[in-house]
Amino acid sequence: MKVVRTIDELPRMDGSVGLVPTMGAFHAGHLALFAAAREENDVVVASLFVNPAQFAANEDLDRYPRDEARDVDLAEEAGVDVLFAPSTGEIYPDGYSTWIDVGDLGQRLEGEFRPDHFRGVATVCLKLFNIVRPDRAYFGQKDAQQAAVVKQLVRDLALGLEIRVVPTVRDEDGLALSSRNAYLSPEEREAALALPRALATKDPAQARELLRDLQVDYMEEANFNGQRVLAAAVRVGKTRLIDNVILEGETK
Ligand code: AMP
Repeated sequence: MKVVRTIDELPRMDGSVGLVPTMGAFHAGHLALFAAAREENDVVVASLFVNPAQFAANEDLDRYPRDEARDVDLAEEAGVDVLFAPSTGEIYPDGYSTWIDVGDLGQRLEGEFRPDHFRGVATVCLKLFNIVRPDRAYFGQKDAQQAAVVKQLVRDLALGLEIRVVPTVRDEDGLALSSRNAYLSPEEREAALALPRALATKDPAQARELLRDLQVDYMEEANFNGQRVLAAAVRVGKTRLIDNVILEGETK
């Protein structure tokens, strides 16, 4: 596997290219995306970039878990060919000023609590797509609204790549894997299990009842490109967790 830090250093890639955008701190959710990409493409590129543009000033950008050496080993074992790990300046050089606004979809649910979040996500994804020129890009169902935003971006701007959405990978206790789970104390982790249990009811009212001891940002039914999901964001101590279950419609 090649670890590449600049756009100019990226190798020429022959055959089909699958891209897996990530912010690192790899877990089995990321590995599922790498495996899906490995199965369908000649070349697998993973990007590792903690994107400042998708964090608000009061969020966890500075303490976001980073362990590049471990990520390099895990990506290599997963069959990734190129790990693109640029600096912030490589993606947002001095004078950078172009931003993607996906409209209403980016303002609802997560967008209500993280107003510029999807602007940052859509912008970095478009930039990564332009840099890597993949045939397919892979996203997790865990971030269902993010996947919907990326599909909207691809459709609206005729980017001509396929977006694949990979089912959510959970721990044995039901908690969806997330790099942010590392923030949870054992007690907080126990409390966080209310989230998958609540979603498993597939009923917003019952789910809200099960979450009465947590701070709930939202627990709502949403329709993303014809797929109905029950989606939620909760706070456990200082940690904000999101998750969803599919009510109807396929993950594609
Ligand atoms: P992140 O590094 O957290 O930005 O995640 C990178 C990609 O992995 C995103 O497309 C996420 O939706 C996906 N992902 C994160 N957690 C999971 C999970 N538990 N199951 C499946 N995909 C996931």
